[in-house]
Amino acid sequence: MARYTGPVCRLCRREGTKLYLKGERCYTAKCSFDRRGYAPGVHGRARQRFSEYRLQLREKQKVKRIYGLLERPFRNNFKHADRMRGVTGENLLQLLERRLDNVVYRTGWARSRREARQLVRHGHVVVNGRRTNIPSFSVRVGDVIELREKSRKLASVQEATEFQESLGLTAPWLDIDNKQRRAEVRRLPEREDITMPIDEYLIVELYSK
Ligand code: SF4
Repeated sequence: MARYTGPVCRLCRREGTKLYLKGERCYTAKCSFDRRGYAPGVHGRARQRFSEYRLQLREKQKVKRIYGLLERPFRNNFKHADRMRGVTGENLLQLLERRLDNVVYRTGWARSRREARQLVRHGHVVVNGRRTNIPSFSVRVGDVIELREKSRKLASVQEATEFQESLGLTAPWLDIDNKQRRAEVRRLPEREDITMPIDEYLIVELYSK
């Protein structure tokens, strides 16, 4: 289960927008993008050439990076979305939102998707009563996601909840009970539930070539 392990602020600078990959730090003056909002590398400040392909590629890379996926799993999600009924771009975003690591992030028990992924990988998360350590696990309506009893009092979880609640980042499609560290999927996420600026049609155009 490969994942990107390099410097993450560089990814925001490459995409030319804040991707909020580091949790609290992203909202402070320490944010690298706020301090150096140009692309990394020696040619980072050079004038960028714009082409249709470049726009499509950057949009795809941006979404991959927001959800912490590498190319192959991202493409597999796209193929799955393409086979589903409805609008492919919206299906793709819905599949990404339904990933267990994203759901744990959206409950507010982690400050970033990376931290949420770690909670899942380290076996802190239970789905429908079964310990589940697969970040790509796709939740369905009615699924119950909980933290294991001994994980509920983790200081990092408590801090993350306070932080996420103060910013109102938790998902409206989840019924969250923070006392029990329990969340139920009330409905599937819809396009308007995803507030990051994403032009998913550019990704569809890129992969449809
Ligand atoms: Fe991106 Fe957050 Fe780093 Fe800022 S602090 S550059 S938003 S990951």
